[in-house]
Amino acid sequence: MIVLVINAGSSSVKLTCFDSEGFRVLAKGLVERVGQDGTTLHLWASGQATLCRPIQVTDIRRAVELLLARLVDPEEGVLSSLAQIGAVGHRVVHGGDSVTQPVLLNENTTNIIRRWSALAPLHNPHGLAGIEAAELSLPHAVHVVVFDTAFHAKMPPVAYLYPLPRELYERDKIRRYGFHGTSHQYVYLQALEHLPGPPESRRVVTCHLGNGCSMAAITGGRSLDTSMGFTPLEGLMMGTRCGDLDPAIIVYLQERHGITPAQVNDLLNKQSGLAALSGVASGDLRDIVEAMDQGDHHALQALQIFAYRIKKYLGSYAAVLGGLDAVVFTAGIGENSPLIRRLACQGLEFLGIDLDDSLNDAPGKGLREIQAPGAAVKLLVIPTDEELAIAQQTVHLIQPNLNAAGRYAWLTAQ
Ligand code: ADP
Repeated sequence: MIVLVINAGSSSVKLTCFDSEGFRVLAKGLVERVGQDGTTLHLWASGQATLCRPIQVTDIRRAVELLLARLVDPEEGVLSSLAQIGAVGHRVVHGGDSVTQPVLLNENTTNIIRRWSALAPLHNPHGLAGIEAAELSLPHAVHVVVFDTAFHAKMPPVAYLYPLPRELYERDKIRRYGFHGTSHQYVYLQALEHLPGPPESRRVVTCHLGNGCSMAAITGGRSLDTSMGFTPLEGLMMGTRCGDLDPAIIVYLQERHGITPAQVNDLLNKQSGLAALSGVASGDLRDIVEAMDQGDHHALQALQIFAYRIKKYLGSYAAVLGGLDAVVFTAGIGENSPLIRRLACQGLEFLGIDLDDSLNDAPGKGLREIQAPGAAVKLLVIPTDEELAIAQQTVHLIQPNLNAAGRYAWLTAQ
């Protein structure tokens, strides 16, 4: 059977086809810049050259239809028939506070996606558009929805309640939800395989450091706390997002400069973070490091603050978990920046965190350990793979006895 994973965002759609036995990637498709100039379709299949082609598409639904049609195109396609696709895993960002696991697509699921669209207006409606298009093109397949918030939905109230009037939680659903759940869960499960002792008592902090950055404190298969909150703005400093901030700053700016909600949104989400503090006008870590290498003091300071905030969360999550067994670094920065890993771990020997500089600096791609010999806490670099995680969870939901998705059975049993 082929499992198809669909990740429909605000301006792009990604499809990945896996075989359900060994989870080998068979084909990938991408339509990017949907609704903008330069919309492009990319199609790749194992053993074939990538096809890249400008196309005209203005909405996500049509992009999914087109990608599926191209997958089976007699001349350029990579599958002989859409009937080969037996299951589809859909990524959706917000599933609210009640969905803790992947769910089969049905009316109840689409109602959940709609209900939480108000809190993820840039994501959930696109996810739903992708789902509706895929359901029409693939009526024979089993459709499963995997929510980004699901892994964090079992956080305890001490972690998810904000100290605000209770009615804001009860009426407006204002609480911490957390994001990047699929990635945190995936690398946590990988980490468990490298940790001695009973998996249910291992205490792991996962650091997902990409364009968006978040951390999670995990034990017993459960995320106990995570740095992103009501929205993906809270927590760590990010490429262009500010992360934690005194909320009174916003009131002050409104009163003093009369800035509008849209301007606040733009300031905090797009004009802050690494880009703002470095002055490099880019939130891409590689650009900031390049500026630092050329002697730019602000770039150096931006990187120090970025790492300092990771370190603060490491300390607080060690407290939440009552100690640490492992820290995992993942996503673009976590996997590729020895500098950020080093700065974030510096001075944490008292927690048992002791980075080995040569292991940290050694080039590598797969899962690797970078702690010094004998260190109490394992430091792991683990490549994340949200598409693979969604494919595995999809298969696990519909064929729970298949051992390929075995670690999800352990998780479900916790
Ligand atoms: P997204 O959140 O969009 O999935 P990624 O996980 O791809 O983002 O991470 C993007 C970030 O990773 C960018 O800041 C980029 O500079 C950084 N990054 C990617 N490759 C490297 C590298 N080789 N060295 C340092 N940083 C890198």
